[in-house]
Amino acid sequence: MFALVDCNNFYVSCERVFNPKLKGKPVIVLSNNDGCIIARSEEAKLLGLKMAEPVFKKLSFLKKNGVRVFSSNYTLYGDMSQRVTETLSHFFPQVEIYSIDEAFLNLSDMNVDLEELSKNILTTVKQNTGIPVSIGIGPTKTLAKIANKAAKLTGGIFIIKNDRQRDTIIRNTPIEKVWGIGRQYSKLLIRNGVKTAFDFAELDNNWLKTKMKVIGVRIKKELLGEPCIPLELIIPAKKAIATTRAFGKKTSELKYIEEAVSTYAVRCAEKLRKQKTVANLLTIFIHTDPFNRNEPQINKSKTITLPVATNDSTELVKYALVCLNNLFETKYKYKKAGVIVDGLQSETSFQGNIFDKKDRKQQKLLLQTIDKMNAEFGRDKVKLAIQGSGKEWKLKQEKLSKRYTTNWEDIIEVKA
Ligand SMILES: [Mg+2]
Repeated sequence: MFALVDCNNFYVSCERVFNPKLKGKPVIVLSNNDGCIIARSEEAKLLGLKMAEPVFKKLSFLKKNGVRVFSSNYTLYGDMSQRVTETLSHFFPQVEIYSIDEAFLNLSDMNVDLEELSKNILTTVKQNTGIPVSIGIGPTKTLAKIANKAAKLTGGIFIIKNDRQRDTIIRNTPIEKVWGIGRQYSKLLIRNGVKTAFDFAELDNNWLKTKMKVIGVRIKKELLGEPCIPLELIIPAKKAIATTRAFGKKTSELKYIEEAVSTYAVRCAEKLRKQKTVANLLTIFIHTDPFNRNEPQINKSKTITLPVATNDSTELVKYALVCLNNLFETKYKYKKAGVIVDGLQSETSFQGNIFDKKDRKQQKLLLQTIDKMNAEFGRDKVKLAIQGSGKEWKLKQEKLSKRYTTNWEDIIEVKA
């Protein structure tokens, strides 16, 4: 059996853990740059607020109904997500982190009452993290996903125990809600009279193969209770590090893009130093707003191999700016840029370069000192001049809550 554990209204729940006054009130969280609604409390859903709705159209409605609005606080959500995963790993050796608020568990070989186990998970996660979760259990990951939707309506737990229950639940699952069936396939299937997951499970294999290739047959088997998709467990490989963000407003000014790209490169360097690695590949990309068809579009990137693998902010910034100047053209309005470092190696054992004249020991001491100061006094208290103030390109985050769990300054105070 597989379980899908899903955090209820995750971003809103994170805000509520540290601000209990929000309980029972309509709360929403906005996307990057405070643009659209990306999370809603139950109360906000009841008011008719929709996912992805642009918030500027709703300002008076939100005010009239006392809706509390938050910018997305990914530092907080990421850390809370890790806490939930950590609690789950105490119960199970095999946890697949599927998204920031969902995890799959492998329950096979667990000789326990699933009902009891689920209740235990629910209360322990709530107790350890403050986050409410729901659990769906079924013989495959696809069925566990479907069971989880049902759990949201039945108090947090739903277990598909037998074939009869499975048939009932897939009869009530619209085809577009089935995991792995995208929007294009939904359209095709509905045109062919396949409206529910049950209809899909009755389709002929040959028909499925011609229309959807092997993926169709796999989903059908999963719906009928035959597991085809195993857990994807994280292998702690050293992955590339990326810092990419959209700008608060579009810009054609090289100066502002330089500030942004330098800051992203510094972020990458900080992450490298934190995990004690160095990178030897550096990629920079910039692009315009792909949704604005009225303006000329451009999307460019450049990757270079660094002479010596490094996690030195000043070096990464230097090379990032060389790449940027190579890519930049004044006639475009840029919307987003990013810095990606790859080819990661351990800080202590990497390939040097015979022509390298830099005093790396001295530089390392300097960077360690800067990291210490910034950890104590706040991000970017000590920074490179080229990073600028960020006023012209940073995202709007006017309603940002504090970083309660990752920043000493923001730790919650209790008066007793
Ligand atoms: Mg969720």
